Amino acid sequence: MKNIINIVDNQIKKASSKIRVNENLIKILNKPINEIKMNFPVLINDKVEIFSGYRVQHNNFMGPFKGGLRYHNHVSMDEVNALAQWMTYKCAIQDIPFGGAKGGLSIDVNKYNDKELQKITRQFTKSLYPYIGSNKDIPAPDVNTNSQIMDWMTDEYNIISGNHNSTCNMKSVFTGKSINFGGSYVRQEATGRGVALTIKEWADKKDYNLRGKNYIIQGFGNVGYHTCEVLSTFGMNLIAVGDHSCYLYAPEGLNIFNLKNHSNINKSIKNYEFGNEITKEDFFKLKCDIIIPSALELQINKKIAENIDCTLIVEAANGPIDDEAEVILENKNITIIPDILANSGGVLVSYYEWLQNKSDEYWSEKEIRDKFDDKIADTFKKIYSLSIRNNCSLRDASYIYSLTQIEKNYMCRI
Ligand code: GLU
Repeated sequence: MKNIINIVDNQIKKASSKIRVNENLIKILNKPINEIKMNFPVLINDKVEIFSGYRVQHNNFMGPFKGGLRYHNHVSMDEVNALAQWMTYKCAIQDIPFGGAKGGLSIDVNKYNDKELQKITRQFTKSLYPYIGSNKDIPAPDVNTNSQIMDWMTDEYNIISGNHNSTCNMKSVFTGKSINFGGSYVRQEATGRGVALTIKEWADKKDYNLRGKNYIIQGFGNVGYHTCEVLSTFGMNLIAVGDHSCYLYAPEGLNIFNLKNHSNINKSIKNYEFGNEITKEDFFKLKCDIIIPSALELQINKKIAENIDCTLIVEAANGPIDDEAEVILENKNITIIPDILANSGGVLVSYYEWLQNKSDEYWSEKEIRDKFDDKIADTFKKIYSLSIRNNCSLRDASYIYSLTQIEKNYMCRI
């Protein structure tokens, strides 16, 4: 298995070799500012269990650290470290005044009921408390975490700080909360909506008609589902889907709403009444127009890339393609819309949520959606133009834009 941190390093090296960017800045960005590991006990069924939580604060030249917290048994310092770096570039690409962070808990969420998860989450918040804050580091949901977890964290944070009077400030410590708890409209669908709108922008540039085109998606969680929801409004056809339980292939197309119902009830897509089960290898071999990895990192390696047959890959997940695979895909002329560009819609609405909480105002759904859609389109256009001007990939162009923005803030310090 490749080390994910080397993948980020290689991406930065490649992109920064195409522009003149301050060498000291690259050195600084190579290491995170803080790597925090927290071990804390929780009493479960009269027995103490020790959990390990992580928070990596990569960089804050642009503003407070910002990024999600994931619950997964693969969570490690290396993983969180790479993901925190990507957050720094993701915020910069959308011109959001935040830096990058990421965290998580090493846990098998399926082993615990809701009450236990709440207890674990509250203890985790106590451990995180000294390191976070509305102008310091603002966590959000990520893999296996959601608005309920953010609400528990916000509530625990308020209890610890004992300061309910300045509610608007306390609510701005976490984003991705539920609407009743100070959350924002559009936040839940934001990442998937952003992925789909980015595909539309790409298609417009290429005069590529999305109607009737076939796509496959790996991952059918919050991001995957909302991506499909918007793609279906463009007339696109989902022919295969995978999640942690299995991969399903249905050449005639899948009804995403029925599939979502099934997966809500059964907690996976397994045993859905349509589609044939296939292996992960065969899933990625399917001839289709667009592939959307929307699960975890390092899913497409050299061997898988050799068999891929599509026009476009869109990284809804962070880091799904390793560096060897990328070279193969580029040689096949397959375009890749990189993670930091494709999935930055989530943190964009997190920023809107934070602004609303800070000023104690609430924007309407329409206002947010219009603002969001315009920004996603503008961001794609500026990165696309940069890639044409520099004759480079969208990934290189995304890093070039972000590094240039961060450099502007860094230069005033030296
Ligand atoms: N976890 C999401 C991401 O990786 C959102 C982060 C946020 O909203 O701060 O982009």
